[in-house]
Amino acid sequence: KGAIDDCSCSVETIDSFNNLKVYPRLNSLLHQDFFKYWKVNLNKKCPFWEDDSRCAIRYCSVKPCTEVPEGIKGSGKILGPEVKSKARPKDVSDCDHENDLGYLNTTLSKESQARFERWAAHDSAQDSFCELDEVGDHDSQYVDLLLNPERYTGYVGDSAHRVWKSIYQENCFRPVKNPYADFSNIGADEFLKEMCLEKRTFYRAVSGLHSSINIHLAARYLLSDKTGFEVSSEGVWGHNIEEFQRRFDPELTGGEGPRRLKNLYFLYLLELRALAKAVPYLESLTYYTGNEEKDRDVRNAVKDLLSVVKSFPKHFDESSMFSSGLMQAATLKEEFRGHFRNISRIMDCVGCDKCRLWGKLQVTGLGTALKILFSGNFDQQLSLSAVRETKFQLSREEIVALFNGFGRLSSSIMELETFRQESLR
Ligand code: FAD
Repeated sequence: KGAIDDCSCSVETIDSFNNLKVYPRLNSLLHQDFFKYWKVNLNKKCPFWEDDSRCAIRYCSVKPCTEVPEGIKGSGKILGPEVKSKARPKDVSDCDHENDLGYLNTTLSKESQARFERWAAHDSAQDSFCELDEVGDHDSQYVDLLLNPERYTGYVGDSAHRVWKSIYQENCFRPVKNPYADFSNIGADEFLKEMCLEKRTFYRAVSGLHSSINIHLAARYLLSDKTGFEVSSEGVWGHNIEEFQRRFDPELTGGEGPRRLKNLYFLYLLELRALAKAVPYLESLTYYTGNEEKDRDVRNAVKDLLSVVKSFPKHFDESSMFSSGLMQAATLKEEFRGHFRNISRIMDCVGCDKCRLWGKLQVTGLGTALKILFSGNFDQQLSLSAVRETKFQLSREEIVALFNGFGRLSSSIMELETFRQESLR
């Protein structure tokens, strides 16, 4: 309950906005082909320590994807702004048209397109907060996210702790006066008071993500394992209120639980703001899968969702970040970006494939939100023609991660309502 720190908004306002308006729309959108397939490399080596032997828990496995629409496979890295068929581009050889990506996707020779993609990827990497997988990589594979829901997997103990510890202790900022502050312990809020807004934002975003992951595992807990030891088996999944309370009850967590839940709301506002800021760009995309009718439905559903997103007052104010003295702000932003990129690499150290999949997706989604907020490309309201002129690009993988990552937060907030009602019974 109550106000969310560093944002001018309350838990109650978000609950009703999310549960009534955002969640139903988003949930239906994420069932569409465009958003359910995500390409990812789950076989990268952990760059920071010797891989703990990969998890053998059966609920950690990721089911392979049987068929992916050709249109998705063909769309590669670049996802161009929608180009209406009537608006015939001028001259193919005119370099100005290199901004017209939708057009490029279908008309340029393979060679020029590859050159353009390299240029766009390089340009986009400058703004990136994540180390993205190479989509063309042999080890990258499409995953059907609906076939592999985020839920309890049994991934616990040293390996999971090592990842979280490395995220909090090595990558979150610490107060200058308290360089050994341990954020995974009780009392994180005391340390936060000593830090600037940017560093607090970093911690709250990570902690919000952690809360969301742990809410999902408690909401989709393995209640009974009906099927013995068959690998293809399905168990019975549902809410485990004791597991939820163990993690979030104020008394059982020394008051940390509710603060961690508020960080989820903070992160929700941050990602909501990123979506709102990128509306003109997101509305201009084709969401191409090759099925004209479905693609049109998806574009309409995206517009409908974004109109709701836009209607919510701005509560997360990114303009107050990285705005102190020029040099200082630039250095801080680079540090912030560097730390976050590191977290994206740490995801390759998660020793459970299913957790790694959702961890990578959510970190990419958050990284994409940060890219939108802080790349400077959306600081002015852009018209559709201006959107076409911008060099700013998000890849298909970033777009899918952005919407699905936000979908996870939205679903966590929805689950909280169910836990609240269950605990009152
Ligand atoms: P952990 O959640 O491991 O937390 C470690 C310590 O961090 C806690 O002792 C506490 O001091 C602190 N902490 C906990 N929550 C927060 C917070 N929100 N903010 C700040 N500090 C906090 N398990 C699954 O079953 N399914 C999954 O899909 C899944 N995905 C994962 C994805 C990633 C990237 C990682 C690293 C782990 C994932 N896990 C998943 C494991 C899960 O998150 C827990 O690590 C595991 O359940 C063990 O929980 P725990 O109670 O020991 O505490």
